[in-house]
Amino acid sequence: MKIESKLAQIGSTVDTKTGAVNFPIYSSTAFRHPGLGKSTGYDYIRTQSPTKQVLEEAFSELEVGDAAFACSSGMAALQTVLSLFSQGDHLIVSLDLYGGTYRLLEQIMSRFGITTTYADMRSIEQLESLYQPNTKALLIETPTNPLMMITDIAKVSAWAKEKNILVMVDNTLLTPFFQQPLKLGADIVVHSATKYLGGHNDVLAGLIAVKGEKLAEEIAFLHNSIGAVLSPHDCYLLMRGMKTLALRMERHQHNTQKIAEYLQTHPLITDVYYPGLSSHPDYEIQKKQATGNTGIFSFKVKHESMIAPILEHLTLIAFAESLGGVESLMTYPVMQTHMDIPEEIRNQIGVDHTLLRFSVGIEHVDDLIADLAQALDKAKEACSSI
Ligand SMILES: *Cc1c(COP(=O)(O)O)cnc(C)c1O
Repeated sequence: MKIESKLAQIGSTVDTKTGAVNFPIYSSTAFRHPGLGKSTGYDYIRTQSPTKQVLEEAFSELEVGDAAFACSSGMAALQTVLSLFSQGDHLIVSLDLYGGTYRLLEQIMSRFGITTTYADMRSIEQLESLYQPNTKALLIETPTNPLMMITDIAKVSAWAKEKNILVMVDNTLLTPFFQQPLKLGADIVVHSATKYLGGHNDVLAGLIAVKGEKLAEEIAFLHNSIGAVLSPHDCYLLMRGMKTLALRMERHQHNTQKIAEYLQTHPLITDVYYPGLSSHPDYEIQKKQATGNTGIFSFKVKHESMIAPILEHLTLIAFAESLGGVESLMTYPVMQTHMDIPEEIRNQIGVDHTLLRFSVGIEHVDDLIADLAQALDKAKEACSSI
């Protein structure tokens, strides 16, 4: 069955007793046992509950995994997965990492003796030189955000297999609708489901999908032991959002491609970072490993002084932090998402004071371009020296 059909039908055939097309919310935290040593399959909500199970089974199938786990946020999913590692272990992680993940690694995991090195995953030579005897895993974001660097998942996974280390991919930006890392050789996929999977800027959630029985057991143990699991009400909201994922991703991609092309020719814009543009250095790799492109991209304006007037004059596009929802949001990474990343590293990867990140919603693309055009005009007036 095609992924569009699987998405639309999430949970729709599970409740055979009532035939409910929309799987209900079971909010019970406790489950009656039929007798000593007997269980309905549910004991206590943290371990498993019916609504969460429907979401997890659907998601495992979408990512082509062996098991999936719903968490209370994307950070909770990352914390759960990173708890696979112990004191003395070393991780190699993508440069231009999501700020919250950087903070988790640098300020929390580091206290437990887990060290991290940041790598440009486009270079196997660099991975080879950073590899240590205690390196246990790679954590990849592709595309990265905000600079949209692409990692060749199959190539890097083949290298990791030789070293016998795990490959973890944060697939938030593409979702299984456009990219399925487990099929390309990754072992674990994590998501902030708060973004595209939920899609409506109304639910905080995380998801993990894994390959293999051993990892499935290990993550199930950590998921239950740490306890950052998703509540039944949020599982319901997330599934409701996921049913329309295919339609939304297609529209996000369509709008983003048009807007990126428009800005590429705009005289006040110096750079546009989007893997859907043939000028993107990793355009071919992206085309090979994903069936589409995400709905966020970044661009640089001619001068830093244009940033404030642009953000003040946007009317349809909201100046807000986050991405992946139906509403368009503009973010200023240096002061928002990337605040916790030291300036030295920000400069190294190119997150500077002229960079804006745009999470393109599903509004009509003409309205979005008109809003950008008028805000850029106003910025030009305000900064007459440019
Ligand atoms: C938002 C985000 C996270 C964190 O997820 P939350 O749901 O906000 O906890 C992790 N990775 C990426 C790529 C994100 O965009």
